[in-house]
Amino acid sequence: MFNCVTVIRYLSVRKREMERPQASDFLQFSWRVEASGYKWVQAVPIDLKEGKRWKRGQFLCAAPSTGARRLVTDYNPLRTASGLFKTFAKREPNPELIAAFAKEYGQLGTGVGEMVVMEGESFARWGESYPAWKLELERMRQAVELWDAIESPDLRMLERRIKWEKDGVFYYSHPKRGKKPPGAKLIRIATEAENPQILERILPDDVIEPAKWALQRIINNSLKTGASLQLLFDDGELGLFQAPDSLRSAMWIQLAQAVSGHKKIVKCRHRQCDTWFQVAPGVGRDGKIYCKPACRAAAHRKEQKK
Ligand SMILES: [Zn+2]
Repeated sequence: MFNCVTVIRYLSVRKREMERPQASDFLQFSWRVEASGYKWVQAVPIDLKEGKRWKRGQFLCAAPSTGARRLVTDYNPLRTASGLFKTFAKREPNPELIAAFAKEYGQLGTGVGEMVVMEGESFARWGESYPAWKLELERMRQAVELWDAIESPDLRMLERRIKWEKDGVFYYSHPKRGKKPPGAKLIRIATEAENPQILERILPDDVIEPAKWALQRIINNSLKTGASLQLLFDDGELGLFQAPDSLRSAMWIQLAQAVSGHKKIVKCRHRQCDTWFQVAPGVGRDGKIYCKPACRAAAHRKEQKK
C-alpha cells in the first residue's frame, strides 16, 4: 500500500532519473572563433621544438585583429550547430567558401593544421593548408553521402559504391577508372581471407548491409584519436566528460550520433543559406524549416516582394 513516504520517495527517484545526464551531455566541447575572421596567407610551417622550417605554402590563418584586444567567441558546435557535419560535407572545396566556413565555425584544429609563421611576422600562429581542408571535406562528403544512401535507401547509388566480386564485397568511393582525388577510398568489407564472418552475416548481392559495415569502418577510423575522457568543471563541480580535441573530431562525433540515432538533418529552406540542422523532438521545433529566425524573416521578406 502507498503511504505518503513511499510516494515522496518514488517522486524523488523519478526526479533523479529525469535529471540523469543524457548521452549528449556526456560530451563537453567548446570551440573558438576569431572575430577578425580567417584568411589565406603565405606562411612557412615551423617546428617550434627544433626551430626547423619547412616549405612555404598557402595557409588559412586567423586574420590579424584590428583592435587592441584579440576578440574570440567560444561556442559549443554540438549544441548550437546541430547539423554542422553536413553543412561541412556539403561545402564546395574552394578557398573562399572554406574561409567563410571558418569565419562562422572556426578552424578544424588538431590533425589538420600546424604552427606557421606569416611573412613579416616573428611569431608562430595556427595555420591550415588548402590540401588539408580539401581532404577533410572529401572524407566527410564520402561518409555523409554513404549514410544518406543507406537511410533513403538509394539502391542505385549503393550499387555504384558496393561491389560484389569473386572473392568478396568491397566499397569504392570512386568506382570509375582513372585518376582518383586524394582521400579516395577502397574498403575490403569482407573477403574469404579477411573478415569471412561478415560474409556469413550478409546475403550475397545485398548492398545495404555491406554499406553499413563500410560506413562503420569509415567513421570509427575517424573517431579513433578524436576525443578523450577528462575531468572538467560543470557548474563549479568536477564531472567526467568525453571531450573532442578539435572541431574536426566534434563533427565526426556528431555524424556518429546522427547515424546511431537515425537523426534527420535538413537544409535551411532559405535559398541563400547553406546551413543544415537536426530536426528531432527536443531539437528545434518539429517541422522547422529555417535554421534561425533571421533566415525565416529573410525568406518571408523575399516572398512578399514577389
Ligand atoms: Zn538558414
